[in-house]
Amino acid sequence: MATKGSAPNTLPHFVLVPFMAQGHLIPAMDIAALLTARGAAVTLITTPVNSAHLRPLADRLVASSSHSGPFRLAELPFPAASFGLPEGCESLDLVPSRGLVLNLFRAAAALRGPLTSLLRSLQGPSPSCLVADICQAWTADVAADLGIPRLLNHVSSGLAVLSYLSAERHGLNGPGAAAAEPFEIPGVPHGITATRAEAPGWFCSPGWEEIKRSTLEAETTADGIILNTFELIEGDTAAAYAAMLGKPVYCIGPSCLSTKDTVGSVGRGGDAAVDAPRCVEWLAAKKPRSVIYVSFGSLTYVPPKQVIEIGEGLAAAGAPFVLVIKQTEVRPRVAWLSGHLFLDDKVAQWLSGEGGFEDRNKEKGMVIRGWAPQAVILSHPSVGGLVTHCGWNSALESVTAGLPAVCWPHFGDHFMNKKLVVDILRTGVDVGIKGSLAFMDPNGMQQVSRQEVERAVRSLMDGGEEAEERRQRAAKFAEEARKAMQEGGSSYKDLDRLMQFASQKDCNGAD
Ligand code: UDP
Repeated sequence: MATKGSAPNTLPHFVLVPFMAQGHLIPAMDIAALLTARGAAVTLITTPVNSAHLRPLADRLVASSSHSGPFRLAELPFPAASFGLPEGCESLDLVPSRGLVLNLFRAAAALRGPLTSLLRSLQGPSPSCLVADICQAWTADVAADLGIPRLLNHVSSGLAVLSYLSAERHGLNGPGAAAAEPFEIPGVPHGITATRAEAPGWFCSPGWEEIKRSTLEAETTADGIILNTFELIEGDTAAAYAAMLGKPVYCIGPSCLSTKDTVGSVGRGGDAAVDAPRCVEWLAAKKPRSVIYVSFGSLTYVPPKQVIEIGEGLAAAGAPFVLVIKQTEVRPRVAWLSGHLFLDDKVAQWLSGEGGFEDRNKEKGMVIRGWAPQAVILSHPSVGGLVTHCGWNSALESVTAGLPAVCWPHFGDHFMNKKLVVDILRTGVDVGIKGSLAFMDPNGMQQVSRQEVERAVRSLMDGGEEAEERRQRAAKFAEEARKAMQEGGSSYKDLDRLMQFASQKDCNGAD
């Protein structure tokens, strides 16, 4: 365990239980940084493989003088083998096939007993509040066992979670609803409409009924909700969600701003496949706002043919680019993962060698095979836009960096996040994906041609009036995001409210 100091008794002790996936662990570390900066104690619960990735960030947090509250990274052994998962498979991006995703959730739920025992035996101040990830519904029982309040932490936009809740309550996204027929979502501001494919709700695939039931219950019975967003972009949506749920909602984001310096951004999510200083040096040689960054996060799978179309379209658009291709998309996965989805080396052949993609674009393009230092790249002044799958972290990071985005959603909440960026904030260009995929299922994925990629990137990056207006709106949101996080800003005040909520409760959950 990494620990530092001890908290005065009056300050709350938060226990964070993020789900095991990059898009959940990264913002949880950010929230830990925000809370400890206010003097709260934080214990973040994870498993050994994830803990190894988080360790460098955790050590920096512990060493940082601006974070006065004690921070502890606590590990629980993960029962992968007992649930038919390969040894070391402790994270969603490591699950080798779609059929095993449910096993990961079930293995996580088996941590109930060990977590309760761990929290009972912790040294120092007792936990005063459990902050449970939306994907860790089972933690409701842990909070109940310990008699402490529980806040539910979403990792999606306010628009996505409100749409899911409203569609669920009004029976709009059940199996009877036509997947492609748009409906107005009652109670959602801005008259936003969605199809069932776009607002599918939580865990709607067959076999997931129990997880869905417990997730909805965990949302309904939580003492409050944490959203990683801010008032200026989603204040009305958060208020509508709070009213529909009848609970306090704390908008404390963008949490990625908890890391103020470039050094602090390196190592988010583990070791990057490229040296961050080399990346910065490459970017520094490009004109301001000229580079486009392309990444589809940690969980999407982009088939080889589509990776090639993306690359060629990007190269044809003319702007310098950073293209991130996940290892799973470049070559077969390591031995224990082989035999499943990821078995193709077309991309590796296309990329490499004389006359290969990298060779043809060596002046203007950087290809990152694997994990990119995304936070470092997006905050660089040479970057002028991105192509994103609209995972909420990436979408919010683009808003925070003041960057317009080409939006290319794949599954889950990506579609509602895209609506926020394209239709409400108007800082995005829609690449035009119609249907939502099931997670980890490339079958039925809508192909986008290189010409369409080129068109979307040009419309984002060219100097036209529309592009300029988009850019100006994006810059304004970035400025407002910073203000929200500063002392006196809306997110700063919501974090105050959250701290007060947790301080008023004793270990039995009583006021
Ligand atoms: N990320 C990164 N490097 C990568 C890919 C992703 O640092 O190569 C980070 C990204 O900045 C974001 C998170 O991983 O904070 C991904 O979360 P998001 O919600 O965007 O997508 P997910 O991976 O959950 O689909």
